[in-house]
Amino acid sequence: MFPFRLSLVLVCLASLVGAAEPQWFKGNTHTHSLWSDGDDFPEMITGWYVKNGYQFLGLSDHNTLARGERWLTEEAVEKKRKSIGRKVMDKYRDRFGPEWVQTRTSPDGKPEVKLRTFEEFRPMFEKPGQFLLIESEEVSAGMQKVPIHINAINVAEAIEPIKDLATVREVVRANMQAIAEHALKHGRPVMAHLNHPNFRWALTAEDLAHVVEDKFFEVYNGHPIVYNDGHPDRAESSMDRLWDVANTIRIAELKAAPLFGMGTDDAHNYHGADASPGRGWVMVRAEKLDPNAIVEAMQRGDFYASSGVTLNDVRFDKASKTLQITIAPEPGVTYTTQFIGTRKGYDRAVEKVPTPEGDNVPFRLRYSKDVGAILATSDSLTPSYTLTGDELYVRALITSSQAPQNPLEPTQKAKAWTQPVGW
Ligand SMILES: [Zn+2]
Ligand SMILES: [Zn+2]
Repeated sequence: MFPFRLSLVLVCLASLVGAAEPQWFKGNTHTHSLWSDGDDFPEMITGWYVKNGYQFLGLSDHNTLARGERWLTEEAVEKKRKSIGRKVMDKYRDRFGPEWVQTRTSPDGKPEVKLRTFEEFRPMFEKPGQFLLIESEEVSAGMQKVPIHINAINVAEAIEPIKDLATVREVVRANMQAIAEHALKHGRPVMAHLNHPNFRWALTAEDLAHVVEDKFFEVYNGHPIVYNDGHPDRAESSMDRLWDVANTIRIAELKAAPLFGMGTDDAHNYHGADASPGRGWVMVRAEKLDPNAIVEAMQRGDFYASSGVTLNDVRFDKASKTLQITIAPEPGVTYTTQFIGTRKGYDRAVEKVPTPEGDNVPFRLRYSKDVGAILATSDSLTPSYTLTGDELYVRALITSSQAPQNPLEPTQKAKAWTQPVGW
């Protein structure tokens, strides 16, 4: 009798103070629709994420929000699709019906379709505690031909990109500052993540380190031409190495916070080709499923990036300085966890490595093996690492024996990346 009553009292108390047990929410913050260079309607895309078990989505078109009146010719819609198969318009009509699909004929006799706005389609999908759309934009700036793309998540209005300043770093910094000012002006948390550093070899590890206004970058982006694994002739160019070099410079030399790593799919193609959805995502631990709570949880670092490995828990106990992970195992799959970090007395020697043609810098720096060293390895489903006090930071990389569901490369293994702790 007593335990039942006690638990009832606790439940009532919890509801009185509004305290909710934090939960994990699966989301993608980077995807494209017909509002920019994606090949499907935003409501078709949102339907894909709902069906595939996501709890939140940021549709992030280039330099635009899904607002205002926008008409496209049906011919232009069909042209964006790279794969063969049924017409995009036919699939759209089948899914939403003629009442929803708004069409007209242009003065020169071409059939046109109107893109539905964010405010129009969000009520069809949003369900409290189950699914959330977060208004987002890929702020797509650049430095001459070098693309500098930054996703702004939870925006109040469209943000203009700032382009072509004196250096790549100044472009990143100016756009990060513009997004931070936008958050202040509108009184809401807005997060900014720097996208695909290797897309056209835009950014080096040192660029990522020195623009300390940037708090997040994509450690995994599912687009086929972003080179997550780097290039053999470009030193420190895999996302994992970029991250460790940048975080080491930040903590040891700049006394700045490390970068947190995002997983996204950067999907553009929803008809079976190229940049398809579902390759990368984040799992965020938040009290509730609303835009502010999700963004604030990520700003605290309470999330991990994934390309196919799920964790039941990841936590860092500050008192015992222990990073503890619980993997959610799949039948027949094994997991290897590497605890990666840099020790305080690391070898700071660097070597200049000339870059191949097509790079934006004449050389890149190679760091010693002490930077981003593997501090421990475990095959356990509950791996843990206790810091000795000698580490600048520690993070965990969990690698599955199995390929992701929609691999980018035939030899790829599914992974999860936890955030750096202990800094
Ligand atoms: Zn981009
Ligand atoms: Zn993109």
